[in-house]
Amino acid sequence: MNRRFASHYALVDGELRRNIVIEVDATGEIVAVIERESIDNMASVEFYPGILIPGMVNLHCHLELSYLKGAIAEHTGFAGFARAIGAVRNNYTREQRLHAASLADSRMWQEGVQAVLDIANDDLVMEIKERSKIEYRTLFELFGLGCRAIDRHIELADKYTNADITPHSTYSLQDEVFKSCCKANRSTISIHLLESSAESELYDGSGSLKEWYDHMGWECDFVGYGSPARRVVESIDPNRNVVVVHGCRATSDDAALLDNHFAKGATWALCPESNRYISNDRPPVDILRKGGCRIGIGTDSLASARSLSMIDNLRLLSDIPLSELLTWATKRGAEALEMEHLGELAVGKRPGIVVIEDVDLHNLCLTPESRATRIL
Ligand SMILES: [Zn+2]
Repeated sequence: MNRRFASHYALVDGELRRNIVIEVDATGEIVAVIERESIDNMASVEFYPGILIPGMVNLHCHLELSYLKGAIAEHTGFAGFARAIGAVRNNYTREQRLHAASLADSRMWQEGVQAVLDIANDDLVMEIKERSKIEYRTLFELFGLGCRAIDRHIELADKYTNADITPHSTYSLQDEVFKSCCKANRSTISIHLLESSAESELYDGSGSLKEWYDHMGWECDFVGYGSPARRVVESIDPNRNVVVVHGCRATSDDAALLDNHFAKGATWALCPESNRYISNDRPPVDILRKGGCRIGIGTDSLASARSLSMIDNLRLLSDIPLSELLTWATKRGAEALEMEHLGELAVGKRPGIVVIEDVDLHNLCLTPESRATRIL
C-alpha cells in the first residue's frame, strides 16, 4: 500500500518548499510529489514536524575506525593526530572493532544516511557493510611511500561487490603507484587533499611533512609536480569520477585547476567536524562556492569526530543557506557516487525518507537540538 508523507517543509528541486506531499509505493519508490494549497486536514497523510529530506549520502567515512571513538584528544593538529592514531590503534581486539563498527553503521542508518563512500585498509568490517541497509561503496586505500604495487588491493577489492581501490593522498604515495591505482579504479577515486598546509609545503621542500620524511630518510619522487592539485590533474584522466576530501588549505587556483580538468568537475567532500576535531580548522566553503564547485559532505571517522551525524557536520556550516547544505548532503553525494536512484525527493527515485526535527522553522536554520530521523 502506498504511504504519503508531509512535513512543514520538504527539500524538492534544491529548495525548501511548503505544502508538499511525498507518495511512496510499497517498494520505497516515490510515485508522486504533490503540491497543495494546504496540507491541513489531508486524509491519510503521515505528518512529521520539521523538514522532509531524502536519505543522505555520507561522502567520506572510515567505518573500520569506529572503535577509536574518543580515543584521540581534540585539536592535536594534523601531525599530532597521525602520531596519536599510530599509538592507539593496536590496543583493541577484533571483537571491539567489529562491535564499534556495527553500532556506528546502525546509528548512521537511523540518523538518515542512505549511502556511504567508505575508505578501508582491510576487510575486517566488510561483512557489516554487506549486511547493512546502507548502500556502501568501499575503496581499499593504498598508503605509504614504500608501497609499490596495487596487486594486493586489487585482489581484496575483487572479493566484494561495490568495492574498488583508491590512493590515500598526494603526499603518501610515490608517482607510479599513484597513477596506476587511479588508472585501475573503475568507479569513484577518492583522495585526501590539502587537509593541512604541510601538504603544499612538501612540494616546496619545507614544512613538517618534509622534516618528518627527511628524519625517516624517506624520499618522494613526486614533488616535481609543484603542488598537490597539479599532481592530481596530471595523473588522472579527465573523464574519471573524482572526490577530493577536506581541502582546508585549497586555494581558488587549486579549485579552478581541478574543476577545469575533470569533465564533470571534482566533488569536494567536506568534513567540518573532523577539521574542527583535529585542527580547529574549517573547510574552504567560501572559495568553493565562489568557484561554483561541486560540494558533498562526509563525516570522516569516529577517530576524528564526536559522531557520524551528517546534521552535526551541517551545523558547523550554519552560515550557508540550509537548502544548499541539505542539497550537498543528499543530491551532490548521490551524483558523486553515480547512484541515480538516491539523493532527491523526485518521482522514480528510491532515496529513503528522513525528517529533520527541532529546526528553527522561522529562520530556516538548524538549532543545537536539530537531528535527523529515518522514517522510511
Ligand atoms: Zn579520511
